[in-house]
Amino acid sequence: MDYQEKFDEIKEQLVKQKRSKEDIEQIEAAYNWAKELHEGQYRISQEPYIVHPVEVAKILVDLKLDKNTIIAAFLHDVLEDTDTTAEQMEEKFGSDVVNLVQGVTKLGKYQFKSKEERQAENFRRMFIAMAQDIRIVILKLADRLHNMRTLSFMAVAKQKKIAQETLDIFAPLANRLGMGKIKAELEDLSLRYLYPEKYYEIAKLVAETKTMRDSTVNSLIETIKKELEKHKIKATIKGRAKHYYSIYNKMKRLNVTFDQLYDITAVRVIVDTEAECYQVLGIIHQLFKPIPGRFKDYIAMPKGNLYRSLHTSIIGTKNKPVEIQIRTHKMHEVAEYGVAAHWRYKESGSIKADNKQDMQFSWMRKVMELDKDSTDAKDFVESVKFDIFTNQVFVFTPNGDVFDLPQNSTPVDFAYRIHTEVGHRTVGALINGRIAQLDTKLKNGDIVEILTSKQFMPKIDWLNFVVTKNASSKIRQWFKKFNREDNIQLGKTNLEIELTKTCFDEFTKAGLIEKAAREMNYKSAEDLYAALGYGETTIHKVLNTLKKYEAPKTNEELAASQSQNIQTKKPKTKKNDIIGLEGLLWSLAKCCSPIPGEPIIGVITRSKGVSVHRLDCKCLYNIEPERMIDIQWAENTTKSTYMAHIRIECLDRVGILRDVLMKTGDLGINIIYSNTYLKGRKFGIIDLGFELDNIETLKKVILAIQSINDVYSVRRLQQKENLNQPKSSKKKTKHKNNSNKDVKNK
Ligand code: MN
Repeated sequence: MDYQEKFDEIKEQLVKQKRSKEDIEQIEAAYNWAKELHEGQYRISQEPYIVHPVEVAKILVDLKLDKNTIIAAFLHDVLEDTDTTAEQMEEKFGSDVVNLVQGVTKLGKYQFKSKEERQAENFRRMFIAMAQDIRIVILKLADRLHNMRTLSFMAVAKQKKIAQETLDIFAPLANRLGMGKIKAELEDLSLRYLYPEKYYEIAKLVAETKTMRDSTVNSLIETIKKELEKHKIKATIKGRAKHYYSIYNKMKRLNVTFDQLYDITAVRVIVDTEAECYQVLGIIHQLFKPIPGRFKDYIAMPKGNLYRSLHTSIIGTKNKPVEIQIRTHKMHEVAEYGVAAHWRYKESGSIKADNKQDMQFSWMRKVMELDKDSTDAKDFVESVKFDIFTNQVFVFTPNGDVFDLPQNSTPVDFAYRIHTEVGHRTVGALINGRIAQLDTKLKNGDIVEILTSKQFMPKIDWLNFVVTKNASSKIRQWFKKFNREDNIQLGKTNLEIELTKTCFDEFTKAGLIEKAAREMNYKSAEDLYAALGYGETTIHKVLNTLKKYEAPKTNEELAASQSQNIQTKKPKTKKNDIIGLEGLLWSLAKCCSPIPGEPIIGVITRSKGVSVHRLDCKCLYNIEPERMIDIQWAENTTKSTYMAHIRIECLDRVGILRDVLMKTGDLGINIIYSNTYLKGRKFGIIDLGFELDNIETLKKVILAIQSINDVYSVRRLQQKENLNQPKSSKKKTKHKNNSNKDVKNK
């Protein structure tokens, strides 16, 4: 049959479907225009190209689709394969037709790679999401169906590829849309090209056993018919072999041979009403023995694609098991045509334009409702607009590979999805051929090209906009690995600022940061700093861990616990010595050990309340002004004691330490510790830690010691230092310089 005859057949069919004269004229105009535009083009089969659009249109006419979809079928390859513009098409047939053709052209551009099932599911979703009109998907399915029917003209390798793609993408898509008839044909054609020997074996066996089966099934049908007549139920009953692919699948799934399969045939009983379905079921179960466990009520519980039917299997005549499907005419139409059933041309008149989206949406809504059986399904559906898979975007590489990404994904997310190395070396991105910012949010259908450079490295601020876990963890990993020193420095500084220098040093000295690091599964404090630096963990987490070890202690307790050498007595607790800290948790900063009478300031810490510093403490350089609070010593401090540290430089001679201790003893102060060091020949250093009540006493002590023979200098230390520990020598030098300044001031 040539294409002209085929078109005449279509025309006849349109008349039979009682389409209006104008509609038929427009459809014919589309056919004539397509014929003219494809003039001189041929398919691989050597037939004129127009054969293809005509066949696709025929499939859609069989599905009774609306006029515009049929017109679009005739014109579906025109924009792609001829010089015709969308404007020209719109002028002739209107925007609806152009949208359909553009939609199907766009879908056709993507190459499908049949990889794993998950990806296939993405394709199917993408299709529905991208085709802004479900008719585009139906049109695409018809296009694919005709291409499958004519696949024998293709090279074998191509046949297999297309068949696999059909099986992975298009048949399940048809199934998803409830288009059972097209799904079955696509599956059978795929089987034929993918596994020809299996296909022909099954075809042969089905044919060979047909006569036998028919006689069994026919007698069964006769029995049912008679019984239904008795009950005055009008029914159409048909028996037919299941389609090859479902037989193949069953053999594979159950691992059985063809003759071990018992229900090759399905008998279908179609009645008028739902009530009759159940009535018929009852009658059949009375006539024949039902096989337990085989009854399924898809009327009460429709499948996800809206398929509704009663299924049962019975032991029929001649003891052969038979599957029986019972449904109404309406259910049958949905089972065969699915979503297309809603687009079918109604004899009462074609679908109104403003009704289109409603109908499409209602079908989608129903599908979504079935997917979600929870009570909040309604809310869910409300949030689902036309674009059903709103939380996903599908984007493409220039090669047509598709990737699904969460909504708001950026080119950086995409780059890391392609490959970690691509991500790391991203310098820029082209979206649909145009240069785009790396934080641009990708949209459905975007074609994204990532520009890379070998010299390039990830940027830490990418973490501010990437949305995929994969990208953020890969970026972090990179910083972890390649930027360790910087990260350690950054993490350490941040923690120091947060804890204040004093607390940080205390924790470090007590080994608590190491301890916290190990508890948080890091090998060392350095690892923990590095992790802080690249953002793997947070200051907050570290503080929470540290908090567990040590309830904030008073200044004296800490001092006592830290003094290691001469330890005389434990200081008493003091209270209410500072104005401005009433009711607050506070402690004296270890870095500067303030003494009553000298200017002080409070610094709010996250973990230890307010830390009291000397106004000239060098730690204050790191602290933000908003964390400082004004405080002052109370007029009359209680008799309690405060720690002071001094360093005495002197001649190393016998008895000099005794002279120093005697002088301090005369002044009635408690020495907490004393450390002596030799520095070179004849040169000694004595560090003293002692308790006193206020700054005036300290001045007296310093003056008294300076008056001792062979003492060269006495100066106050910010804190206890240990000259024998080379580990923190760098810090010591710093402190020393600072302390020198202090001495000069005095
Ligand atoms: Mn085509």
